[in-house]
Amino acid sequence: MPRIDHALIVGAGIAGCSAAIALAQQGVRVTMVEKQRAWKFLSSGLFIYSNGLRALHAIGVLPPILEAGFAVPGGRNRYFDQDGSFIVETVYPSLEGLPAILGIKRAELHRILASRIDELGIALKLGTTVIRMPPAGGGAPPRVALSDGSEDAFDLVIGADGIRSQVRAEAFAHIAPAYSGFGVWRSVHDRPRGLDAKIMMMGVGKRLGIMPISEEKLYMFGVMLEPQDCWYAPADWPALMRERFGQFGGPAAPFLHQLGPGSEVLYTGVEEVIAPLPWHAGRVVLIGDAVHASTPFMGQGGAMALEDAVVLAEVLAEPHPLEEALRKFAARRHPMCKLVQDVSRQVGQAGALEEAEDCARRNLELRRDGQGKVDAFFAALERLR
Ligand SMILES: Cc1cc2nc3c(=O)[nH]c(=O)nc-3n(C[C@H](O)[C@H](O)[C@H](O)COP(=O)(O)OP(=O)(O)OC[C@H]3O[C@@H](n4cnc5c(N)ncnc54)[C@H](O)[C@@H]3O)c2cc1C
Repeated sequence: MPRIDHALIVGAGIAGCSAAIALAQQGVRVTMVEKQRAWKFLSSGLFIYSNGLRALHAIGVLPPILEAGFAVPGGRNRYFDQDGSFIVETVYPSLEGLPAILGIKRAELHRILASRIDELGIALKLGTTVIRMPPAGGGAPPRVALSDGSEDAFDLVIGADGIRSQVRAEAFAHIAPAYSGFGVWRSVHDRPRGLDAKIMMMGVGKRLGIMPISEEKLYMFGVMLEPQDCWYAPADWPALMRERFGQFGGPAAPFLHQLGPGSEVLYTGVEEVIAPLPWHAGRVVLIGDAVHASTPFMGQGGAMALEDAVVLAEVLAEPHPLEEALRKFAARRHPMCKLVQDVSRQVGQAGALEEAEDCARRNLELRRDGQGKVDAFFAALERLR
């Protein structure tokens, strides 16, 4: 029997949608509010590694994800320097027979999650948010007022509202996002047939990656230090990306040359959320980026949000009081999310080295032990499950 009868989920991103599906499938009544008036998800791509695919399998949506995305044959990741000289090829591990890494358009992932939400009859209120949060105590289910004028009693409020979480700001005012120093530039291109591996190009002060996201498309992402709070007009993003990463040759060159007016480009200044335990206050719990947004250099933020949903549903189905279940949830998730944040930060720093000699040493180290580092990271994730 589920521990709760009626849950309110605030935010219909990866964390909110997957939690809604996981809970509804075990009999919890779910109401989900999303402040956007229509499903509108920023484009470009997402990698999902085996651990994230396992979570998608657990919530029952894996087949359409595999159909919509692009599973990299053999999980290959090919490293080059910025001139296009080959450094090394590493291989991501495949868990439980799942693809090691899949690229997918974000909009496709959300289309699939939204369709499952619809099939399950989950009450989704678009263009709606929370007006009055429940009091901090864990007493009787409080009444929560929503911006559409309705009010209801909820056994649990799940804050899945991302980096700028309103739920976190109200229930955990001491936690705030911090700028990482990095900006990420992303563009979408037609995929040449032969380009079927993930590519990472290690430059001086910058990194550039290429990843297939469907049979037809790939996305390219460039990472470099950017000043905090800088603002670039979206119409200038294609030219800025082309200019910033202009020193990259090899496999990136044709895609950089394509960038021009009308290209699909996104710029994001990267923030992190580092939240100590507890992750709940009374009947309010945080999941996903709202509580552990990471720099994106391990491509694990989405997988962490998906795993949060699966673990939260698991602990809520166990016969414990709610308070204990929420403690157990965070105790299971915190070490893994912290590991992802710590390793991702290190990878960001290694990619931002600005002295040519340091970069040459880093690339040599990648050749010597790149595979060992990949294996150690994924083994640690599995140990912390
Ligand atoms: C540049 C970049 C690249 C990345 N690449 C990858 C990758 O390749 N693979 C990967 O796994 N992860 C990647 N990530 C991380 C991943 O995008 C996030 O970890 C993931 O989207 C988090 O999902 P979420 O649902 O927690 O938050 P979000 O996706 O931010 O969703 C939050 C939702 O809540 C809604 N909301 C906000 N406030 C309110 C409110 N007050 N009321 C109602 N609704 C509200 C928002 O509109 C949104 O829909 C990347 C991140 C960045 C920045």
